[in-house]
Amino acid sequence: MKKQLVLIGGGHAHLLTLANLHTFIDKGFGVTVIQPSAYHYYSGMGPGMLGGTYAADDIRFATRRLVEAKGGRFILDKAHTIDPERQVVRLEGTHEDIPYDVLSCNAGSSVPRDVITGNGRNIFTAKPIEDLLAARNTIVEQAANARITVAVIGSGPSSLEIAGNVHQLCRQRKLNMPVIRLFSGRGFLAGKPARLRRLARKILERKGIEILENGYVRRIEDGRIILENSREYRADILFSAVGVRPSPIFIRSGLPVGPDGGLEVNASLQSIAHPQIFGGGDCIHFQAAPLDKVGVYAVRQNPVLYRNLLAALEGRPLEKFSPGGKYLLIYNLGDGEGILSKYSITFAGRLAFLIKDRIDRRFIATFQES
Ligand SMILES: Cc1cc2nc3c(=O)[nH]c(=O)nc-3n(C[C@H](O)[C@H](O)[C@H](O)COP(=O)(O)OP(=O)(O)OC[C@H]3O[C@@H](n4cnc5c(N)ncnc54)[C@H](O)[C@@H]3O)c2cc1C
Repeated sequence: MKKQLVLIGGGHAHLLTLANLHTFIDKGFGVTVIQPSAYHYYSGMGPGMLGGTYAADDIRFATRRLVEAKGGRFILDKAHTIDPERQVVRLEGTHEDIPYDVLSCNAGSSVPRDVITGNGRNIFTAKPIEDLLAARNTIVEQAANARITVAVIGSGPSSLEIAGNVHQLCRQRKLNMPVIRLFSGRGFLAGKPARLRRLARKILERKGIEILENGYVRRIEDGRIILENSREYRADILFSAVGVRPSPIFIRSGLPVGPDGGLEVNASLQSIAHPQIFGGGDCIHFQAAPLDKVGVYAVRQNPVLYRNLLAALEGRPLEKFSPGGKYLLIYNLGDGEGILSKYSITFAGRLAFLIKDRIDRRFIATFQES
């Protein structure tokens, strides 16, 4: 029986492994990829898809097509649990057990829905990225005939990008410009450099986007936002961008996890308890130095993860991952404007957006064509 490599999620840290799937097959290993969608969406271009700059096809990788073309098996389902003793992944939909010799997890993260009650109609989360497409269609439909209110809950980069791109969408499509409110708890872009915060605030305010910092949101219901101080606001469409949590698979499976519930891995991106299990991206907790939940780290993990999966199957020594230095931040604020920040350089405007657009398009083209 062939040795089996199983990948949970074809996320940003698995792109190089997927591009080189034929290497595993040619060496006589079986490869299975489990993912709930035939596509994986590139998050960096998600807000741009919401704003109408990109179509869905521009920002997604055709995981299923690629896996099958390279001779692997693609399973359209979610991994539910991992049993490290029996070395199987239990599927959520069919409850089938998929055996592995080596397993790699890149199931990412999602926005917790703890504060969302009611039937959730017209409430969208910043992740999964594909939901931003449904949000775009809903806004186009509703803002065509009325002046609606759009609420974005969150104080980080994704809330800023969502608010700015809702503005772009409505301006470009000549829809009724909604009232756009950003509920930023008590600190808009808290923890980011002061100049970046100042520039972002200036751009959003110029677009007429209101930034509220009078308290955290306690509950989101259909059409209502209730703050901790009991103040209430109404909105027709709501976005929750309150930060992300790693996939629940690892807690559910009783595997060692970090404080955020991510699979605890050592310097070789390998589970600290189960040497056959690896992982990358938002779903891991990197023991040596906890990493920000940004795609940059997932992307940087690609080469080490790819080589370590091959090494683990062949019984060779593993490499160590080094997170690298400070990363470049560029936010897409809609209407062709961005903010770029790295070290002591921070500037806003069209050039920042153009740099981001160029980097993102080049990145996606590399792996779309693999
Ligand atoms: C709006 C927004 C914009 C962002 N912009 C940037 C940016 O410009 N630059 C940047 O560096 N970071 C950005 N980020 C952060 C970035 O999204 C994450 O760090 C990045 O997505 C992590 O990649 P990942 O592959 O680990 O996870 P994900 O992108 O979440 O991918 C996980 C994959 O696993 C699949 N999956 C999920 N659950 C299961 C399961 N149970 N079984 C099997 N498969 C599963 C999913 O379908 C998905 O394909 C942004 C985030 C948001 C929300």
